[in-house]
Amino acid sequence: MTVVDVVAEAAALRALEDVDDAELGARLLRGVPTNESRSDEELLRHATRATAFGAELAGPAPGGSASSAGSASSAGSPSPEIVEHEGGLEAALLAQYDARHHRIDLFTDTIAFCEQLVDDLGWRHLFPVGTVRAAAVEHERAHHLVTADRSRDLRAALDHEVFRLGRFRRLAYIAGADEVAAHAFATRSLGLTRSPLLLTAAATAAIRTRNDARSASNPKEN
Ligand SMILES: [Zn+2]
Repeated sequence: MTVVDVVAEAAALRALEDVDDAELGARLLRGVPTNESRSDEELLRHATRATAFGAELAGPAPGGSASSAGSASSAGSPSPEIVEHEGGLEAALLAQYDARHHRIDLFTDTIAFCEQLVDDLGWRHLFPVGTVRAAAVEHERAHHLVTADRSRDLRAALDHEVFRLGRFRRLAYIAGADEVAAHAFATRSLGLTRSPLLLTAAATAAIRTRNDARSASNPKEN
């Protein structure tokens, strides 16, 4: 089975490998509402800081006895329950963290799609077998850690001042920064050479093509 049917599309997706992780992070921020008016330079700065924050949150790079679970402290906040099911591909959903129910949902059909995509694009050296699921868990775990008690720290790391009044500083929330940080967290905690941002960018495009093709061949009223 192959998930990329069109050779031209595969080439376009493969070309994403030449875009570095910082730029991919900036592109992610660019696509998030409220960031439209920010300059490329500003978005790159936010992406770089969010990446540093996420990597630091994950702790030192794995090696020696470090486990794939990473070394992030989760003291006081037990790891969320992991629930696996199908039904993510239509909405291009790989995983999501549900803070209210303290659980991580993993969409097995999207995970399988992404693993196949890694093979199709020749990216196995970047993302070893099983990386998609492991990275999804680490990514959502980062959301959990940030939501639980590190959101102020993320804001401080971005250090984007909205206004200053005497000694009073107000730091802005940069939409999407938590996403970039979560990808950096997964990169560090799994010891990957490239951020799952790369795979996410390719998968999002490939799934869109797949879903467009399906709705074209199988029109439904809406
Ligand atoms: Zn996320």
